[in-house]
Amino acid sequence: MGSFRRRWSASRDACRRAATGTCSTSAPVPLGTGVWAKSTSEGRQRPGAPGAGGRVGTAVRVHRCVRGPFRRRQLVARVVVVGAGIVGLAVAARLADGGHEVTVLEKEPAVARHQTGRNSGVIHSGLYYAPGSLKARMATAGAASMKEYAQRRGVPVRTCGKLVVASDDSQVPGLHRLAERAVANDVDAQLLTPAQAREHEPHIASVAALWVTQTGVVDYPGVCAALVEDVVERGGQLLTDTQVVAAHERADGLHVQVRTGQREHELTADLLVACAGLQADRVARACGIEPAARIVPFRGEYATVREPAASLVRGLVYPVPDPRFPFLGVHLTRGVDGHVHAGPNAVLALAREGYTWGQVSPRDVLDTFSLARPVAHGRAPPRVGRRRGGPLGVPPAVRAVGRTVPARAARRGP
Ligand SMILES: Cc1cc2nc3c(=O)[nH]c(=O)nc-3n(C[C@H](O)[C@H](O)[C@H](O)COP(=O)(O)OP(=O)(O)OC[C@H]3O[C@@H](n4cnc5c(N)ncnc54)[C@H](O)[C@@H]3O)c2cc1C
Repeated sequence: MGSFRRRWSASRDACRRAATGTCSTSAPVPLGTGVWAKSTSEGRQRPGAPGAGGRVGTAVRVHRCVRGPFRRRQLVARVVVVGAGIVGLAVAARLADGGHEVTVLEKEPAVARHQTGRNSGVIHSGLYYAPGSLKARMATAGAASMKEYAQRRGVPVRTCGKLVVASDDSQVPGLHRLAERAVANDVDAQLLTPAQAREHEPHIASVAALWVTQTGVVDYPGVCAALVEDVVERGGQLLTDTQVVAAHERADGLHVQVRTGQREHELTADLLVACAGLQADRVARACGIEPAARIVPFRGEYATVREPAASLVRGLVYPVPDPRFPFLGVHLTRGVDGHVHAGPNAVLALAREGYTWGQVSPRDVLDTFSLARPVAHGRAPPRVGRRRGGPLGVPPAVRAVGRTVPARAARRGP
């Protein structure tokens, strides 16, 4: 909110330009080596732009200009979105839909290269979250809109349901708590006996289970590709291979410094929305904001389940989450492509965006161990997620290494 207020004056300038008909709708010139943008003539006449006579955006209200006592106009803001993961692209698509001039900057050569393209591909139903919390409400609303969007845009999506399995008696109270949460969060779920559970997953052994009907799977990189099309359709652009290195506020707006290969350039904007995922804290710092949180990288490893074992799994099979850990536990997932994976575990990673043991970033390692210092002096470990664990706050059960861990965890049964 603070940064929003700080942007007020610069945006008001732009607002004045818009009101006098001199508002420039020229987006920053494409600089990246990969550029997704419509031809300039089409791209510049955005819906909602002064003179374009188009729609008034509803997604993000940046400003409204009042000209005369009764006339109101929507300002077209030049917005830079940092990061082309699912969050950045969804934000960009809504802003572009609202008539704003959107430029998405992505440091990688393509979209969805990090978390978004490397997750379980599950559309969660909102089962786990505290009733009434923002997370619970966003999860249920988001799941419905994700399915609707994927269907409308022809992205592979399937509502397959998921089975949460209690594999011994000690897990049954936890399963019942989840069932109560489902009711409180308005998530359709039924407690099942082992025989009923086998109707959904004939090869899963349990002492009890919870069947959650609305959980699904989707092709998240496919969703991202569709969102890029939406942004470009509405005159926005995506610049890949373009890393944001700094942003400064000046009288004429935000100056965003970007690096493309060896070259550095500057873009100007009215607003910057940072959706930088694993680099969120660094991007905030590069914009002059000291974030309250720091990223400690954990890698989730998956094992591919091959035939004939893969055919033993129909859909999604999850354990009852252990309340001591901030993870859902190792699960079996049949994705939209039909492949079955077991995972993820959680391993302290040596690089934020490193997906093998060979990928080491000295800067990331130093950052992580600078957080570990209080532990070495016998003080409380830093919080990782919401819970505490062993050194570095890592729960002992997730300090596991190697592919056998997801496989072994997935094989567990009563
Ligand atoms: C192992 C694992 C499994 C998961 N499974 C699921 C699941 O099944 N279902 C689900 O809903 N969620 C799941 N999640 C969570 C989900 O993947 C993330 O919440 C989501 O992908 C985050 O998206 P994002 O856009 O914030 O981040 P990212 O997808 O990481 O995107 C951030 C982007 O910002 C770019 N960037 C960073 N810094 C800069 C910079 N300076 N300049 C330009 N670009 C920059 C990065 O290159 C990246 O492309 C899982 C997460 C993990 C780790």
